[in-house]
Amino acid sequence: MINVGSDLNVIPFVGQVDDEERDEWLAALSLVLPGERLVPFSNLTNSEKTQATIAIVANPQPNEIEQLPNLLWIHSVWAGVERMLADLQGASFDIVRLIDPELSRTMAEAALAWTLYLHRDMPAYYKQQQDQNWKALPYRKPSQKTVGVLGLGSLGNAASKTLANADFNVVGWSRNKKNISGLKTFEGPEGLKSTFEQSDIIVCLLPLTDETRGLIGEELLQLMPRRGGIINFARGPIINKSDLIAALDDGLLAHAVLDVFDQEPLPAGDPIWAHPYVTVLPHISAPTDVQTASEIVSTNIKNYRLTGQVPASVDRLKGY
Ligand code: NAP
Repeated sequence: MINVGSDLNVIPFVGQVDDEERDEWLAALSLVLPGERLVPFSNLTNSEKTQATIAIVANPQPNEIEQLPNLLWIHSVWAGVERMLADLQGASFDIVRLIDPELSRTMAEAALAWTLYLHRDMPAYYKQQQDQNWKALPYRKPSQKTVGVLGLGSLGNAASKTLANADFNVVGWSRNKKNISGLKTFEGPEGLKSTFEQSDIIVCLLPLTDETRGLIGEELLQLMPRRGGIINFARGPIINKSDLIAALDDGLLAHAVLDVFDQEPLPAGDPIWAHPYVTVLPHISAPTDVQTASEIVSTNIKNYRLTGQVPASVDRLKGY
């Protein structure tokens, strides 16, 4: 599958993935980039390390990236770049992240699935079954529930639309003012408060930045209508864990669905595993699709070879 031939440009694949996953990426990328020579970092010669101006990366080890001195830009096959930005602070090359409509669709599907899980009281019915308790809980229509989506980027935008199509009343919050048809949107600190005041369920799809670290804590959780739910599909440290647990223990919040954690995998013995009002997911809300991601990476690289234009890249100052 991997192209050989010294007249082709070398593109290193640099990632902390197991051999099977690495080979899957190399096979898919080589298929859609026949004019390039995709080489796993471990197979690069010293001269190839110097030749490389583009790398395709999946959570790369910083010390491997440092061995590629002439990089102009790197293309991540993941959407989130938090870890890379922290690891590669001094680097001068551009970082391009994955923006894939298929990933957005998958995340929107997850947002809908777990919103319905909370909306239809599935955690409570699961508990009632364990207690052999036959009891109907009150039903409210989706249109009578407000879902607040934090972050209206590639993922939040798609999730908002899918939730609105399922008849939920959706409000969204972002950094800059947005004008999205059919969606009530807010921005800034006051807008964040309004979003929490209205939302029965919060879906977090923000990037982790200096501004969003610890953003969701007691003050905001207190503003939510009682017995609300929270879904975090973004990054663990955006939510203050002890404030969240306190809100669940006090009955202020009914349930939390957490796909992301300060430390992943969530360590064995962490009390959150056994918390009765938390659903733990192993970072699965939106896995990257190797085929569609490879096609997007290929289009970006082919465009660059034709035009010399580096695709839209991550803003290091903003942190996303
Ligand atoms: P994106 O396109 O960069 O969108 C980020 C959104 O967050 C934008 O709407 C942005 O506002 C908003 N935002 C950023 N900082 C903010 C702040 N301080 N205050 C208010 N709003 C702020 O990112 P994306 O592709 O949607 O991805 C979002 C995150 O999802 C990623 O960073 C990653 O952490 C996470 N993720 C998780 C999984 C998973 O499987 N769990 C998979 C992929 C990604 P503006 O629009 O105004 O700039």
